[in-house]
Amino acid sequence: MTRARRRPARFPTHTRLRKLRDQFARIGVDSFLVTFQPHLRYLSGFSGSAGAGLVTADTAVLLTDGRYADQVRGEVRGWKIAICREGFLEELGRRRLLVTSQRVGFDGNTITYAQYRLFKKTFPGVTFRPRVDCVENIAVVKDEEEIANIRKAVAITDRVFTDILGLIRPGIRELDIAAEISYRQLKYGAEGDAFETIVASGERGALPHGRASMKKIGQREMVTLDFGCVYRGYHSDMTRTVALGRPNPEAAKIYRTVLDAQSRAVEAARAGVRTGDLDAVARSAIRKEGYDRYFRHSLGHGLGLQIHEPPRISVLSRSVLEPGNVVTIEPGIYVAGLGGVRIEDDVVIRADHCEVLNRSSKELIVL
Ligand code: ZN
Ligand code: ZN
Repeated sequence: MTRARRRPARFPTHTRLRKLRDQFARIGVDSFLVTFQPHLRYLSGFSGSAGAGLVTADTAVLLTDGRYADQVRGEVRGWKIAICREGFLEELGRRRLLVTSQRVGFDGNTITYAQYRLFKKTFPGVTFRPRVDCVENIAVVKDEEEIANIRKAVAITDRVFTDILGLIRPGIRELDIAAEISYRQLKYGAEGDAFETIVASGERGALPHGRASMKKIGQREMVTLDFGCVYRGYHSDMTRTVALGRPNPEAAKIYRTVLDAQSRAVEAARAGVRTGDLDAVARSAIRKEGYDRYFRHSLGHGLGLQIHEPPRISVLSRSVLEPGNVVTIEPGIYVAGLGGVRIEDDVVIRADHCEVLNRSSKELIVL
């Protein structure tokens, strides 16, 4: 008897390109120039670090250079491939892909002003229009293949957290912990860190983004660890706060408050909930204990081929959660002179609940 091997689903190039083209009329463009690597990867599957794509109403051309010739042919289906000897713009010109009177959209968040000027100079007859979130609008709902990649990234992060607990002791520097995290994430199969690891101990815990420093971790300090990795382009992002020795009563109360706020938000997260309302669930739990002015950032963010992507979960955000969104839920309390606590999970939004991808315990761990 033969057992069917689970094969990865075909890369959904066609669907993603269609969803991009479906926006052309609304955003007033005839074609779209894709230059930001996570966008190009999302639309084509190409994971190389140098490349650009032009998507027109009826074709899609991916330009890269000779270093990626084999890789691009192995990874990409449904795009015409052009290996450039010179720059991408020269190649677009040589192939007459950008022609006078064409309206070309580009991602206004990632193209620099200098690049924009170069576009205009190279193609004076073409109208270039900055547009935002055209790819993010599509990528905001993940398919199960993408969720599986995020799940794997999260599993690596969870495994590393378990390891790291065994290394935290008085006298070890925050940077040593960050280095161990990077090393172990790679060892367990990650492509790299998702962002610069945060290790903030003692009073430094009051810095929500306290990158790891030379500071040595001391007895009776809380340590906030916020880190993640990249797996097949997809990110994980987890925060846990642990204590070295019994924390003082105030720190313990702050921990309980953040955990309660985080758990309530996880409980409430599901399709159909407004992101602003979800933020309010956590914020009101923190307000009840009198710490709301110490929760100074938004509740969470979308996660995928980028570490921060839509939907944003903040007081002012009005988007509505959809099945297949992957978001973080990460309330925190930061008190200058005392320290801070943040707890962050990555969750998949489902029709009537959310699926928490992290397995690491959220109960206060006292080392
Ligand atoms: Zn984080
Ligand atoms: Zn985050």
